[in-house]
Amino acid sequence: MRLKTAWMYHDIMDLYGDKGNIMTLKKRCEDRGIEFDLHTVGIGENADLSDFDLVFIGGGADKEQESLLPDLLSRKENIAKAIDENTFFLLICGGYQLFGQHYEAADHEKLPGLGFYSYRTDTGKQKTRCIGNIIIEADLDGRKMKLVGFENHGGQTVHVEKPLGRVLHGFGNSFDAGMEGFYDGHVLGTYLHGPLLPKNPELADFVIAKGLAKKNPGFQYEDLQEIETPFANEARQVLFERYKVEQ
Ligand code: GLN
Repeated sequence: MRLKTAWMYHDIMDLYGDKGNIMTLKKRCEDRGIEFDLHTVGIGENADLSDFDLVFIGGGADKEQESLLPDLLSRKENIAKAIDENTFFLLICGGYQLFGQHYEAADHEKLPGLGFYSYRTDTGKQKTRCIGNIIIEADLDGRKMKLVGFENHGGQTVHVEKPLGRVLHGFGNSFDAGMEGFYDGHVLGTYLHGPLLPKNPELADFVIAKGLAKKNPGFQYEDLQEIETPFANEARQVLFERYKVEQ
């Protein structure tokens, strides 16, 4: 089996170790004999995203979001086709924000998003940012998962029709949202850096399974061979204990 993955804007969208997500996907695929076929797609580079099983975009500062925006918008039709044809999208923070209606940068400039979903991101009126460790309880196709990460965003995302999960510690989509991220079965957007997947091996496997399902219809999480991840689990334990969240 093969997981054909596009890492978009790899050279500019990479905050707080987001590239660790790619390293984790690669390791967890290769440990199982699944070929991890990685392609980077930068600004101006030709790619048919609907040909990929998985597309990943990391987070970035306002400046980077602004610089990639014309390229992202030029791919709108192709991205819609990819989503429609079951390519799975994993989007972190700045990448997540740009799939909604708009992103208002810290200087109040409003960048139009792809507009696929009703959520939109405005700048915080309180002139501060949501920063710190975060723990959420996510619901992924009925599978409940506690996810840990680190968030640092000025953007306040509102009108999220399908949140990824409930905040147990930290902020999430906005200072007082109580909810975090977006997930509709095809696109998973989240504010969790840290990076996300090394700290949440169960989610890494969920993403691998979603990607593999594109060319192997019916493929599920349960079909993946189990892998031990003692180090990640120890790190998670520390955060659960510190914030008194039951594992
Ligand atoms: N620039 C965006 C914000 O501040 C996204 C930041 C990020 O990706 N961490 O909200």
